[in-house]
Amino acid sequence: MTIRCPPARHAARTARANPARPTTPSCRNTTPDPAGSARTAATTSVTRAASVNSHTTGNPGPPRRDLTARAHDTSLGSMASPLLDRYTALLAQIAAAAARAGRPTPTLIAVSKTYPAEDMQTLLDAGQVHFGENRVQEAAAKVPPLRATHPGLRLHLIGGLQTNKARDATRLADVIEVLDRPRLLDALVQAQQTEGRAPQYLVQVNVGDEPQKAGVDTAGADAFVAQCQARLGTAVTGLMCIPPAGTPPGPHFAWLAAAAARHGLATLSMGMSADFEDAIAHGATHIRVGSALFGARTATPA
Ligand SMILES: *Cc1c(COP(=O)(O)O)cnc(C)c1O
Repeated sequence: MTIRCPPARHAARTARANPARPTTPSCRNTTPDPAGSARTAATTSVTRAASVNSHTTGNPGPPRRDLTARAHDTSLGSMASPLLDRYTALLAQIAAAAARAGRPTPTLIAVSKTYPAEDMQTLLDAGQVHFGENRVQEAAAKVPPLRATHPGLRLHLIGGLQTNKARDATRLADVIEVLDRPRLLDALVQAQQTEGRAPQYLVQVNVGDEPQKAGVDTAGADAFVAQCQARLGTAVTGLMCIPPAGTPPGPHFAWLAAAAARHGLATLSMGMSADFEDAIAHGATHIRVGSALFGARTATPA
């Protein structure tokens, strides 16, 4: 990340020393600008255009310090947090996409796999409730300590689940989004009884019928969903998918929405960093966003 502005303290000091002076963004205050206000205006409109463009493409772009730093300038010792800036911008982008589509604003699941618990804490403090993790082991290390201070945290398990992890997953997760095969269904029914705890379940559908991907294939989806509902009842609340890369996801989102409707399921977990606006237009009730919120992942999740 490039920090384009010099420290905000200068502007804050200037503002305190000259209370009548209108507050201007700190980056423009500190360097003499021979081209004067015309260039300043041009810079501002370029920044706006880039911001609008990133909204339409789903690309979060660089953290928008330039739009939010002013609010922080006046409080001594406070620094703008790039993560919180991205979070604020993402929530606005989600709400705008929903408004455009005439849909209710979906629930954001912050996909925190590979990111430290400190980042989750930052978002929890800002009011974020739902988090997504891929691996039971990683979630077991990060989530329980966070729940000590934020008991409302809701954990969604969104990565491939081995049957021998079904008990741990049942103990830990609020929503298991990866129910995709009869042996896992057996293991989860068993785990419910053993643990005396019932999470919610989403059936993951392999909407592109890709051989390397998890999820029940499209041909078997209706029968498997019915089987899950027969065994787990209303704890099965919806469907989840990850559409194939490199093709327009819209038809796959539409397929998932129609399948959920056939089974009376209200929850549609679909849409990630690259395609959540499209998913919202197709009725996503939950979107799972990782890199657009936390930044590009450097570690590879299992
Ligand atoms: C990692 C992951 C996401 C988030 O992906 P981003 O592209 O980083 O937003 C969403 N859903 C699942 C199942 C994932 O594994």
